[in-house]
Order: sequence, then structure tokens, then C-alpha cells
Amino acid sequence: MSVETQKETLGFQTEVKQLLHLMIHSLYSNKEIFLRELISNASDAADKLRFEALAKPELLEGGAELKIRLSFDKDAKTVTLEDNGIGMSREEVIAHLGTIAKSGTADFMKNLTGDQKKDSHLIGQFGVGFYSAFIVADQVDVFTRRAGSPASEGVHWSSKGEGDFEVATIDKAERGTRIVLHLKSGEEEFADGWRLRNVVKKYSDHIALPIELPKEFHGEEKDKPAEPEWETVNRASALWTRARTEVKDEEYQEFYKHVAHDFENPLSWSHNKVEGKLEYTSLLYVPGRAPFDLYQREAPKGLKLYVQRVFIMDQADEFLPLYLRFIKGVVDSNDLSLNVSREILQKDPVIDSMKSALTKRVLDMLEKLAKNEPEQYKQFWKAFGQVLKEGPAEDFANKEKIAGLLRFASTQGDDGEQTVGLAEYIGRMKEGQDKIYFLTGETFAQIKNSPHLEVFRKKGIEVLLLTDRIDEWLMSYLTEFDGKHFVDVARGDLDLGKLDSEEDKKAQEEVAKAKEGLLERLKGALGEQVAEVRVSHRLTDSPAILAIGEQDLGLQMRQILEASGQKVPDAKPIFEINPQHPLIEKLDGEADEDRFADLSHILFDQAALAAGDSLKDPAAYVQRLNKLLVELSA
Ligand code: ADP
Ligand code: MG
Repeated sequence: MSVETQKETLGFQTEVKQLLHLMIHSLYSNKEIFLRELISNASDAADKLRFEALAKPELLEGGAELKIRLSFDKDAKTVTLEDNGIGMSREEVIAHLGTIAKSGTADFMKNLTGDQKKDSHLIGQFGVGFYSAFIVADQVDVFTRRAGSPASEGVHWSSKGEGDFEVATIDKAERGTRIVLHLKSGEEEFADGWRLRNVVKKYSDHIALPIELPKEFHGEEKDKPAEPEWETVNRASALWTRARTEVKDEEYQEFYKHVAHDFENPLSWSHNKVEGKLEYTSLLYVPGRAPFDLYQREAPKGLKLYVQRVFIMDQADEFLPLYLRFIKGVVDSNDLSLNVSREILQKDPVIDSMKSALTKRVLDMLEKLAKNEPEQYKQFWKAFGQVLKEGPAEDFANKEKIAGLLRFASTQGDDGEQTVGLAEYIGRMKEGQDKIYFLTGETFAQIKNSPHLEVFRKKGIEVLLLTDRIDEWLMSYLTEFDGKHFVDVARGDLDLGKLDSEEDKKAQEEVAKAKEGLLERLKGALGEQVAEVRVSHRLTDSPAILAIGEQDLGLQMRQILEASGQKVPDAKPIFEINPQHPLIEKLDGEADEDRFADLSHILFDQAALAAGDSLKDPAAYVQRLNKLLVELSA
């Protein structure tokens, strides 16, 4: 080994230490995946080199045939993985093999419980990567040199996977990275050609580069050549270029783990070759769960872009709308130029038409999943439903299609699970019903017994219950589905259309007329607090309720805007009363104007509370109520 200079010992970032600890303890039952991770990195390194060499062919240093070599030494108990990809500079080694650069990592680490089963699930969500080498090794040595740097700028990184690592400058003649794993005692099984070959076939067959292993030598030891003969053990062709019928499900799944840096299988995929005016191949995946950083603004999103099978960039986010940012995969174009850049992508009209075609593919894939695999779709919805809800606002052209994919909680279920699709809702609408009714609120528990639902319960009409923060905003973009309008049951002058008989309507009008005097008195007592006082068609059991004006902001939007420090126009609610209720009858008969006013305020405040709103003057409410209680018990 050559001389080492500029040797230094550096500590791992705290998060790396946590990750290492966790990985070793919770992924043990899956230990062979370390090889998949290292091969995946070597393949990425080859992709990067090929890309950089487009502009600087000298980076290839004469050796254009990119490959991965895997060897082992039974006596020394080592496994060695060598690639001739892009390699790393000293700074890159320190950054990539000493820290975790993903934003939100520290927060993520706080979620760890110490329960190995739960944590192994979490860690999969986080992505395991290079550090998985320490599942089977108690020392890892990395020898690397960045393509284009002189041989004297090689780097040796070494660590026992505890608190720190060493880096030193070395001479390295060949560009690329060699990783030597010193196997832990008990893990010698991996220093074996047959075992390694099997693991490669199982997890890395799809890797487009040749992965070579030394050929078994069967002759006499004295005849053994110094340099082994190498043979390729994987298929070594880009998976997406193969015909769909030739690719097994397991291969699609393993390829997904490589491109998505995920640990678990995807829920679904769609592989298509497009020919004609535009020529490209796409392979799109729906992940099984949300990555830990789904809601981080800087979280990676987008597809891996290839042009004529040459890797161009990761995270090309011009090919799908933002509301589909959870989709992973590859797009390989024959039309784009090899020196395409992000700026060009943003302007190229070809990209627009690819984007709309790919969007449609994803929506079709989700439709299929919903139809054929309802349980898996539920899992999808839990992970990404909130993101998909951004769709109707972002993608006008596909609004109806997206709406069909949405799932809601409703008055038909009592657990608040979001499982009801709009088609299903329409399928069980009552005779005479031509609207889709919904109610928004903060939590399912808070609105499932809302007085707004009374008349619907009485008539057996289903109402969608919307409690995600995004829902009210979503509903401002969704006006109809399948020709049926959406109606917010807390808003405006609820008109049940044909669901109310002519007699019902007549009776309502008569009551309203008969109660005109009471309505006037209430308006006088409540004054500026209300926009209007009227007889309700909504109530059967409660005395009164607040409705939102047709054009006013709902409670949820108001709270979101207020929380973000924006000034919200003061909207007055409509106060609706139920004349059949004994309290209202009593109020109607109350001759004492002071008591009438107190009672009116109490009813008004109670209606606000039932709607999930907070009181403007809670102390006054309590005082009035207590006064009443004292009078009662006197
Ligand atoms: P990920 O692959 O998800 O980025 P890893 O933990 O697997 O995370 O790898 C961390 C980083 O280390 C890679 O992003 C890459 O920059 C660098 N790296 C790892 N292995 C190699 C390699 N064989 N050649 C060049 N760079 C590598
Ligand atoms: Mg990796």
C-alpha cells in the first residue's frame, strides 16, 4: 500500500451515529441488502461519470468500459467492491461518508423509538445507503479517486462504524472507488463466490453495468493464475429498455429500490414505450409509503432523466406536476439532446407534451390501483392523499379525473377513515338527491355530531366529512363531479331541492311567517353580531345553529389565514333557529327583555361552540349562563 499523508480523524455527524447504531440493530434480519446498496452507489457513480464525460471526454482516462467488480478473500475475511465510476475527492468523501445531507434528518431521528421493529420500518423510509456496510463489517475501507484528478489525489477513508472515521491522501492509479469490507466474525458466509453471486442475482440483476465476479478456479493451486478470470453475473442491460413481458415483478421491484433509494416494494408501476412523433420510455412507480421528508420544500422530487440511455440528471421535476411529486422512476428520451440542461427543460415545449402524457399515465395507474387493489389503494391514500388533494387547484385539465381518485370520511362510517370515493357516494345517493353534500371542520370527532347534520341524518342522506387542513381550500376548486354540484351544508340557505316535499316547503314558509316577530326581536338583541336571523331547515334536535354566508370564508380557511398573520375580513354568521325546540318556544314567550337578551346571547354562543369556533367573549357567556342557573335553582 502506498504512503498515506494528511491523515486526520473526524467524528461522524450525530445523525450518522444514530443511523449506524439503528441500522446494525434493526436491519440485521435483512443483512444481505448491504450489497444492493453498495452496488446501487457504484452504478450511480458510473452514471455520473458517463454524464460528466459528455462534456469532458478526458474524464474517462481512456477506459470507457464501466463496470463493477466484486471479489472476496476467505482467509482475510474480506469482500471488495470496485467500480470505475466518478469517484470522490477528499471533500466529497468527508461530506458523503461522514454526514447525512438530507434536510429534516434531525427531526426524523427524534421519531425513533428504540423498538427495533418500528425503527426498522422508519429507517427503511429514511433510506439505508452506504452505512449499511456496517451491518456485516466491523471495519470498512474506502479507496477512491475522482475522475480527472491526478493519481496523487486519491483518498483512503476508514472506519469501524463507531464514533469516527479517518481520511488520508493516497496515490491511486485507477479512478473510481474500491470498498473493502472486513467482515464481522459470524459473517464469513459473504466471503464466498456462490453466496455473493446469489445476492447479486437477487437484488442487482437489473443494474445496467456488468457486475463481474472471479470465475471459480478448479485446477491445482500451483496452476492458479495471479489475476483471476472475470465473468459477468448480472444481465447488465437497462431494465426499462426491455420488453414489459420479459421483466419479472421482482425485477421491477428491485429496480424501484435502486432508483427510489427505498427499502420497501412499490405499490404499483407503469412501464411504457412511446413511439411516433415523440419517442421515450417511462417507468413510473407509486411508492408504498411517504418518505420522511414528503413535506419538506427541498425534499428530492422528480424522475431520473436519461437521454438515449445515458444518465442526465436526478430529480428532473419538469415531467410531472407538483401534486404527483411522490412518483418515482425513470424517463428515457430519444428526442432530447445529450447536453440538455434544467433551463432547457423548463422551456422546451416537448417537455410540456411529455408532462401531460406522463401525468395521464400516473392518474390511470392510480385509477387502476383503486379499482383492482382497494386495500393497496387505501395504503396509497394514507400516504399521499393529502398531496393528491393539491391536484384540482394545480391541474385544471385533469380535475375530474383527480376528483375521482379522492377519498373522504363520511357520515356512513364512524371511524373517520377516508375511504369513500365520489363515484361510490353518487352510487348511493337518495332518490331526488342531485347534490354532493359535505361539511368541513377541524377533526372528525368535532364534526361528526354537528347540528348541521341533523336534517341529513333524519332523511338518511350521506354527508362527506372533511377535516384535513387543505380541505376547505380544495373544495373551493371542486365545484362539481359527474355533473353533481358540491354543497357545503354549513353554508348559505340550505336548499334540499327535491329532497324536501312540497308540503315540507310550504310548512317551512308558514313557520317562518309565523315567527317573524321572534326573528325581529332576536335580531334586535344580537345586533351587529349576526348578518341575519332566520328559521332553519337544518335542525331537528338543536335549538339554533350558525350558517356561513354563501360568499364568506369558512372557519378553517379563516383560522389558517389568521395563523399565518393575514388580515381576514370579519364575516358575520347567519343565526338560524329551530322553532320546534322547547328552548326557542320558551324564548318566544319571554316577556322580560333583559332575560330575552341574555338567553339569545347564550344560544348564539352555544351555536358558535357547536360549530367549533371560539367565543369572542367567553367570560360574558359564562356570566350569563351562571345567572340563569342561579335563577333556575332559586
Ligand atoms: P444515496 O445513494 O442515497 O445518495 P448513500 O448513503 O448510499 O446515499 O451514499 C452517499 C453518497 O456517497 C452518495 O450520494 C455518493 O455521493 C457517495 N458515494 C457512495 N458510494 C460511492 C461510489 N461508489 N462512488 C462515488 N460516490 C459514492
Ligand atoms: Mg445509495
